Amino acid sequence: MKCNSCGGEVAEHEIRCHICMSDIGFPNVRAANTPEEKGELDRRLADAMTSAKARGCESILHSFGASVLSSAVVVSRALGLVKNIVESENQLITSFYRQVDGGSRLPEDNRFDRARPSVDGVLFPYYGDQIIFGALSLDGVGVGGSYGACHLTLRESAVANRSSLFEENSLLFCTMKHRIILGGRIPPGYRATWNVRDRLAMAKHQPDLDATVTPDKFPGILVRQGAKPENEVFIEVHIYGRIHRDAIEAVVFRKPTKGPDLAIWNSFKKALVKRGVRVAEVP
Ligand SMILES: [Zn+2]
Repeated sequence: MKCNSCGGEVAEHEIRCHICMSDIGFPNVRAANTPEEKGELDRRLADAMTSAKARGCESILHSFGASVLSSAVVVSRALGLVKNIVESENQLITSFYRQVDGGSRLPEDNRFDRARPSVDGVLFPYYGDQIIFGALSLDGVGVGGSYGACHLTLRESAVANRSSLFEENSLLFCTMKHRIILGGRIPPGYRATWNVRDRLAMAKHQPDLDATVTPDKFPGILVRQGAKPENEVFIEVHIYGRIHRDAIEAVVFRKPTKGPDLAIWNSFKKALVKRGVRVAEVP
């Protein structure tokens, strides 16, 4: 890629041109915005439209896409961690690597944490330590799973310019479905920038829609929880940089029936409301 200001060749992972220091944009967003990526996504979407038309559900597909344009980024974390961030002006949500480096997290001895660095090396060459993962959601509930039961909806104004979208759980995409080897490349057509997230969602979910699907089912089509990562369905959001408490617009908490988290939550939710954060509970 060439710098728009000085014409110099810039590396994939930079956010500033190393020659003239001009802002060249977030690397994950640039990677999603190449002619090759956009062209292949257009092709997938055209195929999805043809298929939906043949099945008599073209208008449902359009209506699903329109709905996804109002979707938000949801990042899920444990309640204790969210509480620390909200109660401090200086705490930030950081990437997996920054947490491990900073000593606030130990990598788990599971195949996902072990595979993460090599997958991130393919997806985010030399900048994986900057990426926070979220899910695209229509109802404020993200994937949760091992991330935690507290779902944070982030303000669009805080994340739209630095977020890119990916078809699904990138670990499963790379390791199980496409078997991308170390140093390989992600096939084009599975990434999108924020403003065209509807196109990625329509290309992906066309087979899940039919003429009987009503709009109240759209949130559950976009995000499906699962007992195991293999069973979870979601569009993965890659957010460049860190997240400050002022970026949090709403919190949905999967409320336990008892235990210490319930007591913490009951006092914490009042603090959230006081900060102007919308709060909801799900069983
Ligand atoms: Zn330059």
